Amino acid sequence: MVVFFDIDGTLVDSDGAGLDAFVRGFAEVAGIKVEQVPPIELGGAVDSALLVELGASLGGSLRLRPEDFYPRYLECLRENLVSDRFAPRLLPGARELVALCAETPGVTAGLITGNVRAGAQTKLDHFGLWEHFVLGGFGDDAEERSGVAKAGIQRALDAGCAGDVGDWWVLGDTPKDVLCARENGVHAAAVASGSATIQELETCRPDLLFKDLENPAEVFSRLWDWHS
Ligand SMILES: [Mg+2]
Repeated sequence: MVVFFDIDGTLVDSDGAGLDAFVRGFAEVAGIKVEQVPPIELGGAVDSALLVELGASLGGSLRLRPEDFYPRYLECLRENLVSDRFAPRLLPGARELVALCAETPGVTAGLITGNVRAGAQTKLDHFGLWEHFVLGGFGDDAEERSGVAKAGIQRALDAGCAGDVGDWWVLGDTPKDVLCARENGVHAAAVASGSATIQELETCRPDLLFKDLENPAEVFSRLWDWHS
């Protein structure tokens, strides 16, 4: 079984550190003021699509090249994670649940996240969690979440991960996480610890819905016991 975790709102509450880094990095590389960057909605978004949308919303003249934008974004992100302007934290139970998945024989902990790979690593390294994840799909694999999921699932197949794809899970905090699981034929588990309410998630009919991950042993056993 593979459990693919989303990051923001599922494992991590960056307290705005990620959004600020994206906006500040964009403004600096584009040569505009932070206030000129249009408001962006991060919940379930994919970094590579956000970069294109921001450029387009500013008239297309500010389409930044990824190789120009991401190095500065990552610097801003590293600064923000240790700045006292923000209080980033792991959500309760996240560390224990990831460890349970990583340490149980026959289970692999993966990632399906809109963060570009280097951004995902920066955020998870900050909490000492990156080393648990063997593989994943990232925001530099595709511009929509379904493509990100497809890339992550393919990597898990290539790595020979245990079980049928139909028994694997995506665990995320937004309707987009549920949808990307459906579109790729894996189970969807939703957790209402991020930008979507439990009612909004209910309407997407995930296979499992959790208020939070505060009881990681129970969450793990409900994922594990699904087919047994
Ligand atoms: Mg999320």
